[in-house]
Amino acid sequence: MKPKSSQTPDPSMAETFLKYAAAPESTRQIRLRDQYGLFIDGTFRKPESGQWMDSLNPANESLLAKVAVASEQDVHRAVQAAGKAQKKWQKMPARERGKVLYRLARLIQERSRELSVIESMDGGKPIRESRDVDIPLVAAWFFYYAGWADKLQYAFPGRETTPVGVCGQIIPWNFPLLMLAWKIAPALAAGNTVVLKPAETTSLTALVFADICRDADVPPGVINIITGAAATGQALVHHPEIKKIAFTGSTAVGKWIQKAIAGTGKKYSLELGGKGANIIFEDAPLDQAVEGVINAIFFNQGHVCCAGARLLVQESVSESFLRKLKHRMSHLIVGDPLDKNTDIGAINSASQLQRIKEYINIGLAEGAQMYQSHETVPSKGYFCSPTLFTDVSQSNTVVQEEIFGPVLTVQTFRTPSEALEKANNTPYGLSGGVWTDKGSKIFQAGSEIQAGVLWSNTFNKFDPTSPFGGVKESGVGREGGLHGLYPYINLR
Ligand code: NAD
Ligand code: MN
Repeated sequence: MKPKSSQTPDPSMAETFLKYAAAPESTRQIRLRDQYGLFIDGTFRKPESGQWMDSLNPANESLLAKVAVASEQDVHRAVQAAGKAQKKWQKMPARERGKVLYRLARLIQERSRELSVIESMDGGKPIRESRDVDIPLVAAWFFYYAGWADKLQYAFPGRETTPVGVCGQIIPWNFPLLMLAWKIAPALAAGNTVVLKPAETTSLTALVFADICRDADVPPGVINIITGAAATGQALVHHPEIKKIAFTGSTAVGKWIQKAIAGTGKKYSLELGGKGANIIFEDAPLDQAVEGVINAIFFNQGHVCCAGARLLVQESVSESFLRKLKHRMSHLIVGDPLDKNTDIGAINSASQLQRIKEYINIGLAEGAQMYQSHETVPSKGYFCSPTLFTDVSQSNTVVQEEIFGPVLTVQTFRTPSEALEKANNTPYGLSGGVWTDKGSKIFQAGSEIQAGVLWSNTFNKFDPTSPFGGVKESGVGREGGLHGLYPYINLR
């Protein structure tokens, strides 16, 4: 990870580049502190609450670090720091704001190995995914919105844009650093400052990112990271000086936020749950589709809001498709997230594992047929075998509700209309997939599916230029692309 010779580092970054370039590969150990305070106004502080919580490694239940719990008073200090910083940040030339974002993007690339390892240790996802998907996308998101910072007049021609102000951002545990990037990059590009709360089980990469903010010379107070659980999030939502709430997480909390801020004039964007359908037509390239189905539901242990959690397969090919799918499932390796061969890592927390097991029991009680691969799963840590349910009907709980784990339901259909009717028959509308050789079927799905995102002949592909978000109970607002700037600006 030497600095690329084509890049001339800023003077402020030279020290950081040297530090990482000088250390031999083998000694670049992952250094975590014993405890992490709250990152407010550019420095780490002890919480006024005096409270700390544990961040565990879900793969072996060991303690990784203690993390501060922010009280209402701590939240208030962070919001005040962000408010003070916002006035200067807004006045800074847009090009300079862009440079700060470019520096963050480059330092994330520099420290990508460390960030990938910590992401996998703290959250349980396979290292192959943090290394090849999460962290590269984090950098891509900062690069992309860095580019918009001084081009807002081209994004919104003839309109004057002003920032919203201080944004409160609350993120989940499934893509910790990536959700941070989705939230912080557009907010800063548009001239806002932020107070961001990571999820309680996965705060560590956000806190390492706080260190990166200092190395990147982000002005103090522009980015504040406060840790804690639901009560901390509630204090942030209620704070009167917060002008916008960005939330990704459960539909239940999303609904609570909508009620809590009703009538306050706060802007909001909500990215909530999903129960995406993955539709396989008889003319699809079946072997490729099997891989696509595996990726759609088992990527990140199924802790994916846009997962392809419902397989809809055309009756004429369903038998052979299921045979191939089960065969492929039986070869998935469940285990140590830090092993490069691992396909399915650890379930994020004991409570999430409990929730998934409850859903599996509900599926069995509803009369569904279960298939699990025979590979053993580690006995220590939180693990779940990849699971398939056949003989389900549309009204079954396991078909209607988001499980957020490695559990796939299988239904069959005869006609495209039947497939789309089933695909649309849940309260959610986030994602969908369609596998076919026929463009006409892709177009039909594109126009009839009630979902914010539709993939054809692929699944779970993300790009910063592409807007992402849901309809129905999956949320409001878009993140990514030009659309992702709307929640962070006022247009005049
Ligand atoms: P959650 O919605 O409770 O947590 C998400 C974030 O919101 C966390 O940072 C949490 O601390 C915070 N939070 C919790 N209650 C809050 C409140 N009242 N006000 C403000 N912030 C609050 O999700 P969970 O309990 O960790 O997971 C439960 C289920 O939610 C999962 O099984 C899954 O179905 C769904 N989920 C969806 C996503 C997604 O990406 N859409 C992410 C996480 C969880
Ligand atoms: Mn953890």
